[in-house]
This record gives sequence, structure tokens and C-alpha cells, in this order.
Amino acid sequence: MAYVIVAVLLGPWYALVSALLCATGLMLSWSSPHAYPIFIAEALWLGFAKRRDIYALYAGICYWLLLGMPLTYLYIGQFTDLPREHMLFAVIKQGVNGLIYISLGAVAILLVPGFWHFKGRLKEKRRRNFSTQLTYIFTLLLTSSLLISILVSNHFFLDKQQVLLKQNLQDSANHLGQATQNYLDNHQTVIANAAHWLSQTGADEALRQQLLSGLHDRYPSFITMLIANRQGQLVAASPESHMQDVSMRDKQYSIQDRPYFTEALYNRKTYLSSVFLGRGFGSDPIVAISAPFYLGGEQQAAGIIEGSLDVSHFISIEKQNIDHQQQSIVLIDDKHKVIYASKPLKLAPLSEFNYAPSGKSYQTKLDMLNLEDLSRDSPEYIFSRHRLDNGWQLYVLEPFSPLLQLAQRLYLNTFLILIVSLLFAFYVTKVVSKLLTGPLEVIASKFNKLNKEEIQEQLLDEHSPLEVFRLYQKLVNSKQQLLRHQLELEEKVAIRTHELELANAKLKHLAEKDSLTGLYNRRYAEQRFGGIQDFCERNDQPIAIAILDLDLFKQVNDNYGHEGGDECLRAVAELLRHHFCRDIDIIARYGGEEFILILPQCNVLNIEEHLEKFRVKLTQLVITCPQGKRSFSITTSIGAIVASACFSENLEDWVRQADINLYRAKNAGRNRISLSILTPATETGTQEQI
Ligand code: GH3
Ligand code: MG
Ligand code: MG
Repeated sequence: MAYVIVAVLLGPWYALVSALLCATGLMLSWSSPHAYPIFIAEALWLGFAKRRDIYALYAGICYWLLLGMPLTYLYIGQFTDLPREHMLFAVIKQGVNGLIYISLGAVAILLVPGFWHFKGRLKEKRRRNFSTQLTYIFTLLLTSSLLISILVSNHFFLDKQQVLLKQNLQDSANHLGQATQNYLDNHQTVIANAAHWLSQTGADEALRQQLLSGLHDRYPSFITMLIANRQGQLVAASPESHMQDVSMRDKQYSIQDRPYFTEALYNRKTYLSSVFLGRGFGSDPIVAISAPFYLGGEQQAAGIIEGSLDVSHFISIEKQNIDHQQQSIVLIDDKHKVIYASKPLKLAPLSEFNYAPSGKSYQTKLDMLNLEDLSRDSPEYIFSRHRLDNGWQLYVLEPFSPLLQLAQRLYLNTFLILIVSLLFAFYVTKVVSKLLTGPLEVIASKFNKLNKEEIQEQLLDEHSPLEVFRLYQKLVNSKQQLLRHQLELEEKVAIRTHELELANAKLKHLAEKDSLTGLYNRRYAEQRFGGIQDFCERNDQPIAIAILDLDLFKQVNDNYGHEGGDECLRAVAELLRHHFCRDIDIIARYGGEEFILILPQCNVLNIEEHLEKFRVKLTQLVITCPQGKRSFSITTSIGAIVASACFSENLEDWVRQADINLYRAKNAGRNRISLSILTPATETGTQEQI
């Protein structure tokens, strides 16, 4: 967990250092160096995944599937003596453990505010969408809680299973041990009874043989039975054929050296031997039961009767354990020799019962042993045992692998449940986040383009969350307000524009017109002249330019005041407007008491007459001074030229020529016209004076 947290918060190199420290701790406690490669690789993997902006849990799942579990498998295969059937379990367990601490680390980062100030160090590269964030948090919490709860319940389940198993084995051992005890007791009783009965029947050998054969018929679990006299010579035997075989082979055949003979004869008790290999009289592994018999009230035993128990008949005891077929039994005598062992164990009767306790490193309450590989700790069998009265022991064994397979199945199930729930979580979070982000996306994508009519339409369906719907309503309200303001603004702008246009027109008027007379000003005349000249030039039309200068105007000012002068100027202007009334004529106040007339397309022959008429009209004009109501009149001198439009593009050139004529008119006594018609020959300098 420590290096997972470091990897996520500080990146791969810090994670490498912390994984080294953590792995050292683990190595000291496990004394296994596998922690180094597996955990260091994991820390680096998580750190680099973080740099690529991949969530720790997803990176962890990939690591354990692609690298962690294969590495563990290789390590176990190469460097440990764990049996193959345990490997899968160990690998899966390691993977599940990995996922647990990765998810716990990730949850810790998510929940512990103390880690937050580290977060600035590794900035998340891209902003994740809501669905991705929700999915991660959901899967993270699901994985950690699911894994922990399943593992805890698995642990308790396995624990309970082990207790039950132990109890079961102990019950079987007690039950079968008791059955074996009864079996032996019964057969001992049979032999003891037979001895008693021999003591009473006397020494009739034929009768003994007959009765022995009858007894053997009733107890087939004895492989052979015999009666021997005090010298150890056979008196009777069953099957009878054995008797003939033995007497034919060895006339001196005696069982005098056999413990079952001596123990019964001299110690005068019913005797149960250890297991041994029958000799002469059959050669099977047997357990002998013998008892002494007496004749005619003698103190000394007259001989023994013996029955050899067929050890393979102990299968009848094993058969009593029909409910637990997976269990095997081993019956050993007081010398640790195998009397009987279930077939799957492959232990021959008479062999030494060699086993080694195992599973010391396994966390279990069960007793475990190995029969095949005595050096290995991984257990082969779970066992329980029962000690019989005579020192024999009955072991009940059950293979360990089914328990391991159960644990393995539980872990596999955990894995499967995890994967299914992750897929489910992915699906659920997609649906949930769509519920929230879907309407938001609709609002975001369409709202901007909404117009006044569409705003009334309902964009969100009834499944949208209330919060989103409220947000939508607020947005609709503000959009409506915005539209209202926009309309108001547009109206204001229209009014302002209109006002501005009026003001502009006024300005233009002011810029073009003379305020006193209402005529155009000099600037306007100069501006317009270019266009007029161009037009007339193309149409080969003449232009007349006349400069009018009121005569002795200073005196008017002097005599009638400035108002008188102004009134005079206004009257002259009015007369000018009236007289030169063609649309194309331009009449402008040129400055002071001077006026300019631009008369395009004029009739060269009439122009002087036209000007003359004006001059005369002006002399007749009576001007009334506003102050004092005195009347006076005024005259003007006119300097004019008529020329083809191509004379000059500049009005100045024309005015210069007209001024010359004006000067002439003034000099000639004022109140007259001086007009020149410039022909192409004269245009260069000389004028034709009229
Ligand atoms: P001349 O016959 O030689 O032209 O004599 P004049 O007195 O007209 O000549 P001058 O150019 O010396 O006088 C022009 C006068 O016109 C001078 C000035 O006071 C007057 N004047 C110019 N502009 C205005 C105006 O707007 N209003 C009034 N009342 N007088 C003006
Ligand atoms: Mg003047
Ligand atoms: Mg003048």
C-alpha cells in the first residue's frame, strides 16, 4: 500500500525506492527474495502508468494479469518446491492480494485529505469526463469492498471447513478404531472360547480336527488355524490340506519358537501378536491370536490353539466408512509395521509406516503428513488417529488437495465475481453518468443556438435529474432576459443611429454650407469642381467660372453696421440663388463679400448676357438695414472666364484667370463684367477679352 500511494502521488522513481524498502521488509519476514522483482516491477509500472494518466486500479489489474501473475508463476516453478497443483492457487492468491492493496491504496488517496497537497506535484494531464471519474470511483470502491468482504467470508468459510474436516476425521478414526478393537476382541474371544472348549473335549485328535475345521468355516477371517501340543507339534490344522503339506515337507515341523506359541503356553493367556509373515504354514502377512488349553485338570497347558487373521480382511472395517470414501485408513501395530492400508495409499502390509509431519508453514489447525515426499512441507494428507488397547494405531487419512482445490475454487470465484461486478459497475456508471451528463450535454450543445421560439420547447425529458432540470430552468429564464435586453438594446441602437444620421447630415450641411447666406462654401465648391470638370471634359462641354466681389462693401459696413453688411450678403445670396437656378449650377460664398459661380455646360454666347442681367438686377435690389430701417443698394464687379473643361483640373487655375478679370472690372470703375472666353490657343496664357 505504501509504494502504491507513493507511485500515484510522486511517480515511478520515488515508488522504486519505497518498493525497495517494502520488499526488504517482506523478505525479512518471508525469507523469500521474490518480493524484489515482483513488487519493484509493480511500483515502476504504477508510477509510469500515473505519468501516462492511467488510474492506479486499472494499471494494477493490467499489471497482475500481464506481468505479476506470470512472474509469480515462474518464480514458484523455478525457485520453490511447491507442488504443481498448489501453484495455480498461490498465483491467484498473489494476484488477488495485489488488487486488494492497490485498491486500498487508491481509496486512501481518494479519502485522506492529507495526501491532497502532494497531488499538485503530478498534475493530471487531461481533464476527465464525469463518466470516467464516476466509473473509476465506483469500480474502486466496489473492488476494495468486494474483495475484502469476499476474502473475509472465504477465510471464515475455509476455517469452518477445516474445523468440520478435523472433527470428521477424528470421528472416523474413533469409530473405525473402535470397530477394529471390537473385531480383534471378537476374534480373541473366539480363540479363547475354542481353547476352553478344547480343554473340555479331551485328547481325541480326530474330533479336534473336525471341530477346528468347523470353527474355521464359521470364521473365514482367519486365514489358517492350528492346534499344537505342548512340544509345538501340530495336532490339527485348518485348512486340513495345509496339515498334510507341512507334514509331508517337514516331519519335525514345530512352532515352538513362535511368540504366539510361547506367550500363550507359558504365560497362559490369550495372546495377540504383531503382524508378521507366516512361515511354513502359509506365507502371508498375518496376525496370530493364540490361547492355551488344558487337559484333565493339569496345571500346565497341554497346547495352544491359534488363528491367523488374514490382514486383508481388515477391509471389512474400511467398508464401514462408506460415507467417507475419500478417507483412507492405515492400521499399524505396536512396532509401526503396516497391518492394513487402504489401496490408494500403496502401503504393503509388514512395511514400516514411514511418514513425515508436514504443512508447518500452512496456517491451519489440521494435522498433516506426507507419505511419498517426506522432505517437502506442502502436505499430502490430513489425518487423525486412534490408539487401540494393545498399542496398535489406526490412522484415518484424507488427501489435502481437495481442501486446496476448494480454496482455489473460492479464489477463482472471487476473481470471477470481481470481473462480473466490474463489468456491471462499468455498465451502471455509464447509465448513471449519462443520466446526469446527457441532459447537460443537450443543454450545452443546443442552448446557445436557441432562439426565442425554441426556448419554449422542452429540451429535457422527465428522466433528467431535478438539479439539472432546475439549472435548465434558470438558464431558460436568463436566456429570456438576455433576449429581452437584446431587443431593448437593438431599439436603442436604432434610435441612436437615426439621431447620429441626423447629426451627421447636419454636420455635413454645416461643413458644406455657409451659415450666413445658406449658400455652399468655398470648400464645397472646390470638392465638387473635380467631378464637374471631369464630366464636362468627357462630354466636351465648356465651363464658366465667375467671381463676384461686391463693390465698396467696406463702406456698407461702415455706413450700416455689420448687421447691415450681413443683411446685404444674405440679399445678394438670395438673388444669386434665384437667378442662377439650374440644378447643375453651383453658387458658393468664396469668402468675405466674394461669391463664385461654377456654371457647367453653359452657352458661351449667352453667358455674358446672363451675368449682365444679374448685375443689373442687383443694382435694382433694395436692401433694408435691420437696424434703423434704412435702405440702400449695392453693386458688384464680376470677373468671369469661359473655357473648355480641359483647361485645368484645378479650380485655382480657373479662379486665377477670373480674378484677373475681376481686377480689370474693378479698375475699370466697378459695377461691370469682365469676361474672357479662353480658346485652346489662349488657354496657355493669353486671354481673349470681351
Ligand atoms: P472694393 O470695391 O475694392 O472691393 O472695395 P471694398 O470695400 O469692397 O474692399 P475690401 O476688400 O477692402 O472690403 C471688404 C470688406 O468686406 C471688408 C470686411 O469688413 C467686409 N466683410 C467681409 N466679410 C463680411 C461679412 O461677413 N459681413 C460683413 N458685414 N462684412 C464683411
Ligand atoms: Mg473683396
Ligand atoms: Mg469688395
